[in-house]
Amino acid sequence: MRMEGKVAIVTGASRGIGRAIAIALAQEGVNLVINYTNNAEAAEETLKAVEAAGGKGIVVQADVTKPVDAEKLVKAAINNYNKLDILVNNAGITRDNIAIRLTENDWQAVLDTNLTGAFNCAKAAIRPFIRQRQGGRIINMASIIGLMGGVGQANYAAAKAGLIGLTKSLARELASRQITVNAVAPGYIDTAMTAVLSDELKETITKQIPLGRRGKPEDVAQLVLFLASDRAAYITGQVIAVDGGLAM
Ligand code: NAP
Repeated sequence: MRMEGKVAIVTGASRGIGRAIAIALAQEGVNLVINYTNNAEAAEETLKAVEAAGGKGIVVQADVTKPVDAEKLVKAAINNYNKLDILVNNAGITRDNIAIRLTENDWQAVLDTNLTGAFNCAKAAIRPFIRQRQGGRIINMASIIGLMGGVGQANYAAAKAGLIGLTKSLARELASRQITVNAVAPGYIDTAMTAVLSDELKETITKQIPLGRRGKPEDVAQLVLFLASDRAAYITGQVIAVDGGLAM
């Protein structure tokens, strides 16, 4: 699935699923904007892995909750590579707590990062996509929690469900320009985000997964790669789970 010379922004690419996506795209010849917000060292590690995979990348610090930072990411793509083909809105955080204990800050931070951040980046990317007249790809990292809800995750579930609504609306708005917009809904994937769960809870979750194991970042990256490619040209407005069958 070579995608030589395409240009992608991957938000939250310093670690976890975002890093795996950056590497998978680089392996197919995609030039990357590797975004992080705090963890510069980890982002440099991603860049090294991208280069080791034979790809090109630049590391750009940006907080996706800020519209000016989202603009900065898009400008970095255009200034370095003269175009933008793919936006992967992957940056995300959790601040879990049962609703009665959920603070206003924890509610807002999760909505700002997971939902508003994706909107900010999509808004910044749409103009170059339209100007280039070569279609485009927006891939939003939702979650099965956005479909099912989750105890202690009212903020996260609301943000991811919102992201699914955003995906479908943008898919309708942009379809006439051949810009596709899809959401990926991972189940439980082993990253820093889920490392905080107790071993007991991880065991319980694993037992509920029909395929009998938790996911790896690479499992998610393979779907993103496909959705970003020409092979997925006729798929838009969809939410596709990568969850070992957990949410069916
Ligand atoms: P992770 O390992 O915690 O990594 C999160 C990434 O997001 C980091 O690169 C982080 O950058 C970046 N980030 C956080 N806030 C940001 C901001 N304001 N601006 C820019 N970047 C920001 O998480 P993950 O597990 O890979 O998750 C990636 C995505 O998949 C998230 O959207 C998450 O909700 C979703 N997801 C994960 C799972 C799972 O089981 N892991 C399941 C379903 C969905 P720094 O390194 O600079 O902090």
